[in-house]
Amino acid sequence: MSSPTQQDQTEAETPPDREELEEIFDDIRSHPRYDRELNGCLNCGICTATCPSAHYYDYSPREIVQLLWTENLEGIHDAMQEKIWACAQCYTCAARCPFGNSPGGLVMVMREVAIKHGMESAKDVLRPFSRVMLKVMTTGNQLAPNMITPEHFPDWGPNISKVDAPLNILRKAIPMPTLQTLETAWAVNLKTSIELYTIWEETGVLDQLETIDENLFDVIVDIMDEKREDYQDWLDEQDEDDDEDGDDNDE
Ligand code: SF4
Ligand code: SF4
Repeated sequence: MSSPTQQDQTEAETPPDREELEEIFDDIRSHPRYDRELNGCLNCGICTATCPSAHYYDYSPREIVQLLWTENLEGIHDAMQEKIWACAQCYTCAARCPFGNSPGGLVMVMREVAIKHGMESAKDVLRPFSRVMLKVMTTGNQLAPNMITPEHFPDWGPNISKVDAPLNILRKAIPMPTLQTLETAWAVNLKTSIELYTIWEETGVLDQLETIDENLFDVIVDIMDEKREDYQDWLDEQDEDDDEDGDDNDE
């Protein structure tokens, strides 16, 4: 893991001005899910009493909801530096709140805004997952069978021997052709991959990735471009085949 640069540290330590705090809160409040997730708050603490993360971390969903409900801009920004990343997204709080709030949903909105604003907390939390993101976004899979080896999973102990088997033969025996590979858990075809790229572009996922990890963004965009070219080549081949079939039928 790379250590934060001096510039990063300086940015993290610079307190945001009022305008920036308002911009962050506006982004949270204008999120399409905000009004549905926050209806008011009794400050009763039921959410915190049932929250598993509150038992283990310096974190309270009641505090998060109160910060938003009272529009405490400094407190909201402060919570976004660490606390919001403690939520396990289990939504026990949403099932318990007498106001029908979803503190976990509000945390998710705040996380999206933290990413949008390129906060260091978002970069720190997501950095260890960069390899996972690369794998997911370029193959559609997180874990490939050929990654399940004693070296990669020493914590499995003797159980790892159960998968240390002739995987290539075993995978060939699976009836679905999409699973007969070791490179990925299942094969995602080119058309589906291209559709996923479009979704990530249209929903802003790629913009978010560029904000938090520009190097990873560049690598993924290169791979996306290659796959788009491959897909276009495949489409061109289909057109040529159709033309040839048409010529044969004319004769
Ligand atoms: S969010 Fe709901 S459960 Fe939590 S303190 Fe407010 S009213 Fe109570
Ligand atoms: S969703 Fe988050 S805030 Fe809500 S109970 Fe689960 S861990 Fe706690």
